Amino acid sequence: MSGNFWQTKLFNLYNQRSVLCKFSAVVVCLLIFVYYGYLRFGVFVDLKKEFLRREYFSDDEINGISLDHCKIPLVELNNPEYLRAYQDIPTLMDEMKEICASTPDFSKLENNKLYLTDTTFKNCCVTEVTRKWRDSLDNYILSDSCVQIGNHNNGLDVAHMEFIEGRLKPKIDFWKNQSSSERPYSIFTLVIDSTSRAEFFRSLTQTVDHLLSTMNFVNFRGHHPLGEPTQNNAMPMLMGIQRSVFKKEYIDYNEQKFWDETPFIWRSFNELNYLTGYFEDDPAVGTFNYGRQLGFEVQPTHLYTRPLMAAHTDGTNYSDYKQYCFGHRNVIEFMLDYHFETLLHLSEVPTFQVTWPCWIQHNYGGSLSFLDHTYKNFFKKISENSQILENAMLVVVSDHGFYKTTPTDGYAVTHGGLLERRNVPLFVRLPDRLQREHPEMVENLKWNSQLITSHYDIYQTFVQIAKMSGETAPLTNLTTYGSSLLEKIPRNRTCKEARIPETMLDQKP
Ligand SMILES: [Zn+2]
Repeated sequence: MSGNFWQTKLFNLYNQRSVLCKFSAVVVCLLIFVYYGYLRFGVFVDLKKEFLRREYFSDDEINGISLDHCKIPLVELNNPEYLRAYQDIPTLMDEMKEICASTPDFSKLENNKLYLTDTTFKNCCVTEVTRKWRDSLDNYILSDSCVQIGNHNNGLDVAHMEFIEGRLKPKIDFWKNQSSSERPYSIFTLVIDSTSRAEFFRSLTQTVDHLLSTMNFVNFRGHHPLGEPTQNNAMPMLMGIQRSVFKKEYIDYNEQKFWDETPFIWRSFNELNYLTGYFEDDPAVGTFNYGRQLGFEVQPTHLYTRPLMAAHTDGTNYSDYKQYCFGHRNVIEFMLDYHFETLLHLSEVPTFQVTWPCWIQHNYGGSLSFLDHTYKNFFKKISENSQILENAMLVVVSDHGFYKTTPTDGYAVTHGGLLERRNVPLFVRLPDRLQREHPEMVENLKWNSQLITSHYDIYQTFVQIAKMSGETAPLTNLTTYGSSLLEKIPRNRTCKEARIPETMLDQKP
């Protein structure tokens, strides 16, 4: 593909619900159409109540798991210091709720047709937003070509707009004559940033119930982060490489280099004719852009939300949190809708997608319960779609625990907070088709869920799925760590063998 082709970035998928529009040729705004649903905020969990009795976090588990050479520590969910540190969070949640509720929707999308719902906006048009070519400042630009919406009384057909169809069509055409039973498995990974396993269980109670009771996810009890901050975990998960090794061979944190040539696993899937996607919410804390990093010169995956999010943030008032609202929807609802619609409309195409939301818990400890209904609703929609369940492996994980501290929020460095940070959630659901064809892998997954695992193992699981799909060239000459979660890991695996650094352990291996 040409550089120019890859340079262009989708502002909007044909199945998405937002477009960029211009007022009177000078004012640019983001149109958000009505989302049929409402944000129901999760109740801030009363930790003193019966959560400890829940079967998914049993008394036995609270006491930690102790394997031959590695121990997961006791974690107290109803820690008084946690309750004290985050006692004001419910008030913040109420404020957040009001912010998005008062943000208007301008448009709606139905059957790939885009309609203006507020006809006072007469000069709105659809365009794409891309990263400015060879721009180290990572600015976005709008395309010169902008298609008017107002003239289309029957709705604007956005599915066949060139900047959308041109990007997706080659992959769709490649697979259209293949039967679904012969297509490779899709992979969808949701990385909820800055969330310990304890926090996931105490704050996302509806989501946990749905994942385990309805969808039969396998629940990993001993999954370890590999450090803090995000990059120490993103590289192992997406490249299988330790950050320190990576820095010697590719990019040091402070180097002014683009990330384009680094060996992300999505490159293997692209080679196998998958459609790939990488979705982040807040451009200020993008994993490969925060600090002074340059990010990607050419968008790394077919679907990529960063330019959209940058444009949206730029068009809103940062000080009043409006950058977190897409009309009535908060940014996580928007991202999950994006992701779900992608899974739905591209269900005939193998996809490898990673969605990595930071809002809201990345900046506010104890706030994740705000999104319980949002996440639960997303998985509910997936669980009602047999085609997605049939073909897609679903992974829910966090990179690391919450570790930010402020003068008024010191929980992360209390004894309980430190222990929590040593264990992150991991839930895996294999595609129904794979479960039928390889029941031994289901058993291996369950076996491994009781052991010590790390993000390297997630990477090797991706590699195994890629190998089941076809041959690809090696991405790197460096040694990659970990063991596939679909293969039986020895029970006597040590933390050292799992490549978990001592700083992430409660006790030495
Ligand atoms: Zn992170």
